[in-house]
Amino acid sequence: MENKYFHSVILKPERCIGCTYCLRVCPTEAIRLKNKKASIIAQRCIDCGECIRICPNHAKSAITDNIEDIKGKFKYNVALVLPVLYGQFDTIYSPDKILSAIKYLGFDDVYDISQGAEIIGAIAEDIIKNHSTKPVISSSCPAILRLIQVRFPELIPNILDIETPTEISARIIKNRISKEKGLDIKDIGITLITPCTARVTSIKNPIGVEHSFIDSSISIKDIYVPILKALSSGNVNETKHSMPTLNGIICNNSDDFSMFSSYRKSLSVNGIHNAISILEEIELGRLNNLSFIEIAACPGGCLGGPLVVENRYIALNNIKNIAKKLKNHVIDKSNINSYFEMYNNGSIRLVKSIEPRSVTRLDLDIKKSIKKLNLIQNILDKLPGINCGICGSPTCQAFAEDFVTGNRSDYICPVQEIERKKGLKEKNNMIVKDIMDRLNLKLAAGESGLKREIKDVYTCDLLSWVMAHADAKSAWVTIQTHVNIVAVAVLLDLSCIIIPENAEISDETKNKADDESIPLLISDENAYKICYELHQELIR
Ligand code: SF4
Ligand code: SF4
Repeated sequence: MENKYFHSVILKPERCIGCTYCLRVCPTEAIRLKNKKASIIAQRCIDCGECIRICPNHAKSAITDNIEDIKGKFKYNVALVLPVLYGQFDTIYSPDKILSAIKYLGFDDVYDISQGAEIIGAIAEDIIKNHSTKPVISSSCPAILRLIQVRFPELIPNILDIETPTEISARIIKNRISKEKGLDIKDIGITLITPCTARVTSIKNPIGVEHSFIDSSISIKDIYVPILKALSSGNVNETKHSMPTLNGIICNNSDDFSMFSSYRKSLSVNGIHNAISILEEIELGRLNNLSFIEIAACPGGCLGGPLVVENRYIALNNIKNIAKKLKNHVIDKSNINSYFEMYNNGSIRLVKSIEPRSVTRLDLDIKKSIKKLNLIQNILDKLPGINCGICGSPTCQAFAEDFVTGNRSDYICPVQEIERKKGLKEKNNMIVKDIMDRLNLKLAAGESGLKREIKDVYTCDLLSWVMAHADAKSAWVTIQTHVNIVAVAVLLDLSCIIIPENAEISDETKNKADDESIPLLISDENAYKICYELHQELIR
């Protein structure tokens, strides 16, 4: 049963500092900042692991299993390895030695995915040839399948309907061990040693099949040191395992080293953002001349998975050295009829339809949906369009959508705020003449000071208090008309004095204001209204 909400990628909020790095790389805009912490929208996340790779604070991680817990769950425990693992170690350690070390850690048996890769290698070309929607997109990377579900649902018919080499191998291994050892399938546990998070998610939430034949997972990062310790302990006896084949080795390893690179009219792409560009091209119909496209979400294919330890270029070099020894390997097609039978009877085929994951639907009601769309556009027109992510939504478009769909309650764009404050500063270059005109004030005296700058407004009638608290370049609103108000204004470098409610002013005060160039202005309004209007003028 598909667990719709399972994700292997998780956030450790205590480590998150809200830097927004992950928001900007997430290919499905699945991350938002809430209360200065990242949070993942489950419906959007495709478990690609990009956020794990980029987070400088290691706040994102993957849920995998612990070897001791796994051992207790099944009577017979099998580790399943992707050849990417071989690339993590120095080539002094052969694949057989590495597999033996894993067995030494407590597994009853260990295999790599070569057999699944061999089967796909033997039958894929014919299936691609007969596939009605071209170009056919490889089904081997689960993150890409989820990306298609979320962002490119119209390309679902292009997906090759064969299970991954990992799933095919797990199924074959379980059935074989069950027969050979007389064990019930449910007593055999398969643990995937995984380079990526998307495969972990596929165990609980597989795509195109009812259930996975894999039961648990351990990341390469977690098992790397125990393997290395076992290898250097001298306790591991190298035993012969099912030897990796060239197809198994190169499966998903890199673009220039792909299982399908010999196919005519094929293309191999890796890295999530390259993948998006290519899928956009396919959507636009620009790649209809190609028959097959292999796409891996991670840079350099599975070698660049978020759960590996070795630099992908070094790992690729190691893999190439192993592959050299297998150069003459040709796909064994002697069993091809049985492989096709497996495909036709559904045992290695994606038998369950892949459903789109709608994350952009605004409303079920079309009229409301159009209304919301217009609202989003209106908001978008007012936003700066620089997609900075500081507001907590990854782009301005996402900000507008989040607001309209109720996913965010505030409407605060930090960039607009900065602009507003900058505007305020500019506005504050206002002079006394400006506010005299705008507030319809009468000039009683001090005309030569009308060009004095105004930065703020202050109101109080107690001169000693004003002396202690008013800031320079403030317009001072007071009902006091005594000549001393001019002296206070001069001492504090106030911009002007505004007398409310047409209060009478003595000639002495007016003459002093003329002498000191302090504009003395009179208003019909009371002090409250004058302050309110001045405030509006100053912040507008
Ligand atoms: S990259 Fe994302 S998860 Fe990591 S600290 Fe920054 S906001 Fe938090
Ligand atoms: S795993 Fe990928 S899709 Fe999910 S939140 Fe991280 S970057 Fe986004």
